[in-house]
Amino acid sequence: MPKPLRLALIAHDQKKDDMVAFARAHESRLSRYEIVSTGTTGGLVQEACPSLSVRRVKSGPLGGDQQIGAMIAEGEVQAMIFFIDPLSPMPHDVDVKALTRLGSVYDIPMALNRATAEMLVEKLADEK
Ligand code: PGA
Repeated sequence: MPKPLRLALIAHDQKKDDMVAFARAHESRLSRYEIVSTGTTGGLVQEACPSLSVRRVKSGPLGGDQQIGAMIAEGEVQAMIFFIDPLSPMPHDVDVKALTRLGSVYDIPMALNRATAEMLVEKLADEK
């Protein structure tokens, strides 16, 4: 049996409500995938969507973005939805940049806002 696709879900603080709403709206679809998430985002998504199995790494500012970047480099994450807040300065801005850079280097589907994330989940569903 093929391994399920592993999808990373991450949201900056101002985008966490959006991520929870997105995950709720697509819960049954997302339940086909293994979800890996930064600490706070993952906790909120898991609470809102009990049917998902969410593996949580550290919080983004404490290294979680880098952990997910390493998973992309190892081929362990095949797609990423990252709701970025473009309007707030971030202490871990360099980590965010490194993570999205690796998403490009390894050419994984990567949605950085909700409009693209909606298209991505539709497309992933078609491929299943
Ligand atoms: P968090 O991390 O889900 O732990 O808040 C996300 C981030 O800010 O990169």
